[in-house]
Amino acid sequence: LELPLLNAAEPLEQMLRQIFGYQSFRAGQRDVMMRVLAGQDCLVVMPTGGGKSLCYQLPALVMSGLTVVVSPLISLMKDQVDSLLQSGVNAAYLNSSLPRDQQLQLLRQLHQGEIRLLYISPERLLQPEFIERLQYLGVAMFAIDEAHCISQWGHDFRPEYAQLGMLKQTFPTVPIMALTATADNATRLDICQRLGIQPYILLSSFDRPNIRYTVAEKLNAANQLRQFISAQHGASGIIYCSSRRRVDEVATRLRQQGFAVEAYHAGMTQQERSSVQERFLKDQLDIVVATVAFGMGINKSNVRYVVHYDLPKSIESYYQETGRAGRDGLEAEALLLFEPADIGRVRHLIDQGTPGPQQEVELHKLNTMAAFAEAQTCRRQVLLHYFGEAADRPCGNCDICLDPPKRYNGTEDAQKVLSCVYRLKQRFGINHLIEVLRGSAAANVIDRGHDKLSTWGVGKDKPHEYWLSVIRQLIHLGLINQDITRGSCLLLNDAARPVLRGEVALMLAEPRLTLAVSRRRHGH
Ligand code: ADP
Ligand code: ZN
Repeated sequence: LELPLLNAAEPLEQMLRQIFGYQSFRAGQRDVMMRVLAGQDCLVVMPTGGGKSLCYQLPALVMSGLTVVVSPLISLMKDQVDSLLQSGVNAAYLNSSLPRDQQLQLLRQLHQGEIRLLYISPERLLQPEFIERLQYLGVAMFAIDEAHCISQWGHDFRPEYAQLGMLKQTFPTVPIMALTATADNATRLDICQRLGIQPYILLSSFDRPNIRYTVAEKLNAANQLRQFISAQHGASGIIYCSSRRRVDEVATRLRQQGFAVEAYHAGMTQQERSSVQERFLKDQLDIVVATVAFGMGINKSNVRYVVHYDLPKSIESYYQETGRAGRDGLEAEALLLFEPADIGRVRHLIDQGTPGPQQEVELHKLNTMAAFAEAQTCRRQVLLHYFGEAADRPCGNCDICLDPPKRYNGTEDAQKVLSCVYRLKQRFGINHLIEVLRGSAAANVIDRGHDKLSTWGVGKDKPHEYWLSVIRQLIHLGLINQDITRGSCLLLNDAARPVLRGEVALMLAEPRLTLAVSRRRHGH
């Protein structure tokens, strides 16, 4: 590959030091710069914080002509431009938020060739008269940030991005660099196809070794959350919930428990949201309970933990959201509280949507997310495998590695549950069943005479959560069913008979009643 530097006296390394103040390139950065300088299209796939921006910022200073950077968020543009200006690089942004007189001034500067990098929103870029102007100005490169927004496979499809495919047709000789932090193989291919490029691909490792992944079955979510947060000793954390209502509910409860916490969701005013964000950034607030609206463009390096209180939509979202922890490279935690019934619920919602490719995509994503949560193998291996990265050894820093699931002979537990379902005439749901098993003297048990059943109290030596976990496993194994049409009452399946008769032994996973993984560290 030939080095088409305009000013050969200033090799990339020198500019890296002088302008950006860094000593050396990170893996892959230099290669991708050389490619784009040679006119090749590039796809840069790097996790958040990996150093994507430099991949186009540095070449932009070497090439003659304007580098156009497509970016979906005004706040992102502004941050980038501010920091470039601080480094003495002439950069600017153009979007609808800019007053008209400033827009005019900027256009003048562009025509005088004073701007090296122009950050712009896709809709502004694609205005026909602006495209025409660019043809006249001479573009050195298009950088497309958050390129997954072009794909319906990505987690953040934006219709404005869909039209970017016309760039290659209109500017066939101008190299395009697409950049993204979230690309499984399908998204990756889709990005290239939609942009009409066959690029050089820089795929850096997605491993975030300092993040410890834990998936815990939701048994008593409120207690589990409180226990987990208490062990964090006031460190910064984000708790993601799937709905605004849930955000408010969790935030209120945590506040009552004495934590420094605020809610964040799209139902709040812009002002309220900015205030929360700012206080969080300044460490005046320990915890933000939020919907996924919180986070994109947040650059807080010392977030020590991210909790998913509900099942994320996809592995990409999960990875992206947990990736906001530990940007400083220090140890961080990602906790997913997982309720198996969530899968069925979400699947049901998707099923009721309009059939078509979009529905299939959603189902596929849900299934892979569910597979991750249910996996009994190293979490990091599952994650990295999903992103197409080989990981041949278990990581040693996830719940499965640190505390492998134990199996035990659960025949007796199963018999207690199954015969109690039978004695209750298959007319009651999980909670009532557990009350009877644990020998509750509550009115709803006594009034029905359920304290007279032979199975009343046979499970009183174990807590509610223990039996919840056992019952869920029996459902999962197909021994009992939940009849959703009749108040979720439990029904026995044929497969239950041999277990009840003691003809087969049943191995179960030992219920985990506490979060096994605490913040007490060991080196790794
Ligand atoms: P991304 O866009 O991939 O999330 P950024 O481009 O914002 O990541 O870079 C993340 C951080 O890494 C920034 O603080 C950036 O200045 C820094 N960085 C990037 N490249 C290098 C490098 N070669 N050496 C040191 N720091 C770097
Ligand atoms: Zn592991």
